[in-house]
Amino acid sequence: MYRERSVKLGKERSAIREIFEYGNARAKEIGRENVFDFSLGNPNVPAPDCVREEIERLLREMPAEELHGYTSAAGAPDVREAVAAYIRTSFGVPMRPELVYMTAGAAASLTVTLHAVLDRGDEVVVIAPYFPEYKVFVEGAGGVVKAVRADGNFHLDVPAIGRAIGKKTKAVILNSPNNPTGAVYGEGEIAALAALLEEKSAEYGSPVLLLSDEPYRELTYGAEVPYVMNYYKNSVVCYSFSKSLSLAGERIGYIAVSPAAEEAETLFAAVCGAGRDLGFVCAPSLFQRVAAKCLGKTSDVSVYAENRDILYRALQKYGFDCVKPEGAFYLFVRSPEPSAAAFCERAKKYELLLVPGDSFGGEGYVRVSYCVAKDTILRALPAFEKLARSYGLVK
Ligand code: PLP
Repeated sequence: MYRERSVKLGKERSAIREIFEYGNARAKEIGRENVFDFSLGNPNVPAPDCVREEIERLLREMPAEELHGYTSAAGAPDVREAVAAYIRTSFGVPMRPELVYMTAGAAASLTVTLHAVLDRGDEVVVIAPYFPEYKVFVEGAGGVVKAVRADGNFHLDVPAIGRAIGKKTKAVILNSPNNPTGAVYGEGEIAALAALLEEKSAEYGSPVLLLSDEPYRELTYGAEVPYVMNYYKNSVVCYSFSKSLSLAGERIGYIAVSPAAEEAETLFAAVCGAGRDLGFVCAPSLFQRVAAKCLGKTSDVSVYAENRDILYRALQKYGFDCVKPEGAFYLFVRSPEPSAAAFCERAKKYELLLVPGDSFGGEGYVRVSYCVAKDTILRALPAFEKLARSYGLVK
């Protein structure tokens, strides 16, 4: 009676949500402070001061009809210009406001872009493990996901990507810093990927787009995040302020189409058309303005850096196998037994809530989100140690 795909998606059990709800129930039984919930990617560091200051200023000074009113479908002109200017000065790309589309976060940036470029049956390459919603976004836009495994350190396996690209491949989605692995792709691998995409675009006679999903761009621990437009012309950046400004619930981000992309204006028109199709027009107007004022600012990343160091060192010491994250706020830990779900079940006995990697296309791993209070991590360490002991990992 109703659209089958939507009913199925709506009813589907989300591993993360289930764990979250289990955590809430458990907190009622034994107290919140005794449950160590590492399941969610919700920033716990406060938004930087510029956010509050700008909200207060706008509330005081902006005329009522503008403050909460509609902006243009693609965003307020001054906001789009501010974003374009930021991209020009920060990354040296000659970005124009006419190629910037304000969105309700990265989810909207990706969905709109995929709807703009995919025809039914077109393929989109993603790097496994990957953010599970990619499958939903791609399939919702009529596409098919082709997952390509990252290498042993969770970096790009460019030859494998090459083997996955065929006549029907419209795009490759990159996410760096990465959820769930914390990998940050370096200049060498981005350049190699760009060369591959040039070659494949020429071979098949139409551009293979590079969609860069960048909610974690600023959350790095020393690593540089190359700006894809400087390496590959047919790029689209799907940006979000959810994590950088700790504004996940306010839903604000943007799409920036590379000015060097083939028929960039037509691609941007398709973005606008897809935005209309999906009802993703006029991103939240107050937060468009706030974001424009806070470009380049971040919440205090040193909090995540400290969490990462404490947790990574401890997990190594206890004998767990994990790669040190270079960015974002996740650790991807190898399960000591083949089933990550069984490992997560055992972790629950120690009140540790972890997410099995299976839904990320990372079987045999679990994701540990360290965007939690430092105190939670410190108090959870004995539980991690006991968990390691139960597998005979601690030497
Ligand atoms: N892409 C990745 C890799 C993410 O981790 C997330 C959220 O966690 C999103 C996209 C969606 O971000 P937003 O909240 O901006 O829609």
